Amino acid sequence: MKRETFLTTALLLPALLATACALNPATGRRQISLIGESQEIRMGTEADREISADMGIYQDPALAKAVADMGKRLAAGSERQDLPWSFKIVDEPVVNAFALPGGYIYVTRGILASLNSHGELAAVLGHEIGHVTARHSVNQMSKAQLAGLGLNLGTALNPSVARYAGLAGKGSALIFLKFGRDDERQADDLGLRYMRRAGFTGESMLEVFRMLAATGGGSSQIPGWLSTHPNPGDREERILGQISQAPAALPQDTVWLRLLEGLVFADDPRQGFFRGNRFLHPDLAFRIDFPSGWETANTRSNVSALHPEGKSVIELALAPQETPTAAATQFFSATEVQRGPSRWTSISGMTTVSASFRAGNGDEAIAGLVAFVALGDQVIRLLGATPASDWPAREATMVAALASFAHLTDSRDLNVTPFRLTLTPIGAATTLAEFHRAHPSTVTLDTVARINHLQPDSRIRRGMLIKRVIGGP
Ligand SMILES: [Zn+2]
Repeated sequence: MKRETFLTTALLLPALLATACALNPATGRRQISLIGESQEIRMGTEADREISADMGIYQDPALAKAVADMGKRLAAGSERQDLPWSFKIVDEPVVNAFALPGGYIYVTRGILASLNSHGELAAVLGHEIGHVTARHSVNQMSKAQLAGLGLNLGTALNPSVARYAGLAGKGSALIFLKFGRDDERQADDLGLRYMRRAGFTGESMLEVFRMLAATGGGSSQIPGWLSTHPNPGDREERILGQISQAPAALPQDTVWLRLLEGLVFADDPRQGFFRGNRFLHPDLAFRIDFPSGWETANTRSNVSALHPEGKSVIELALAPQETPTAAATQFFSATEVQRGPSRWTSISGMTTVSASFRAGNGDEAIAGLVAFVALGDQVIRLLGATPASDWPAREATMVAALASFAHLTDSRDLNVTPFRLTLTPIGAATTLAEFHRAHPSTVTLDTVARINHLQPDSRIRRGMLIKRVIGGP
């Protein structure tokens, strides 16, 4: 059943009256949408602010310009060239790219590290532009609205990514919409069209598909490419069928590769890293020990540990207030929160306001412990919370975790450097594995192979540039 067919239901007649039925310029198909173009752009603009704040924009002017220039060149050849197109690099290690309604497109620094040429960049951006010109996310939202679900994006979210708690905002929900396989085919076709109009051939798109397949889902705070862009299965064959000649091996794009020199790779330990259950934050100079066996996560807005049964959480976040007292006053001003006895006035020598609390009633009641700690001129909120019925069993664990908060003093931890890409020219023909032995990276041979689109036993020629990874904790 095509998605338009359920619109004939009499129940949806009032919605139909408010519906615009327009010819989509990219797909040439009639599309029914509750969301007009100006609303689409407005949604994108709002979500863009949130995404830029949540994920952070990666700072590298030359690379940012290369991405934006390529995006604009491709978008200029699209059917919606008048959208306010924007192309940004988000500071995320995962391999992915996202498109928001209205023409806001993001590539992660992780996907850039895995690309080998301008043509591959064109393939990634062209595919995302295709999602926008074909209005895929707008259609999904319209579908949700028409089905009487309102604009509750949670329902359209891929359930496996809905749990990324630190990125639960509406803007982030928009980029984590999971496209359907038909949408993916269409985005591939449109991407190929835009690449060709910009002077690139389809081989680079095949190369990107192979790289993405080799990358797999990955583990990160945000979902990888295959979680948000399901592989339609026949993807390579379909694009291959549209390439007239047999795919040729392209020469190395050394101009592109040189742009990647120094690119931060994997998680940036300056923004916090785990060593076992201990979380260390070099930039803010603190550490905390989470209970062993709990599932930990570090996002831009918080650090958390979740009990294996999923009901109890310990969370650490920056409070916006200037003093622990002001932050505590704000926290306990919520009517549903009842303040309990105070616990500490200092943790590891830092001024602290803390208390146990209860919130909610009956089966929904939550019990916990909150501490606001003055760390330099910042206030850190430490919070442990659990269903009230579990509190007696969890209290000692929560108290121990919160009390472990301390200054980070070890200079090796304070001075930790991020993993970074570096390009090394090959002096004499060899294999990647031999090269890796002679010029070690601080990541595994498999990772080096993946980012170079090679196998460990691949032959590499004299004069080639090979990506390595240096630095890291
Ligand atoms: Zn896609």
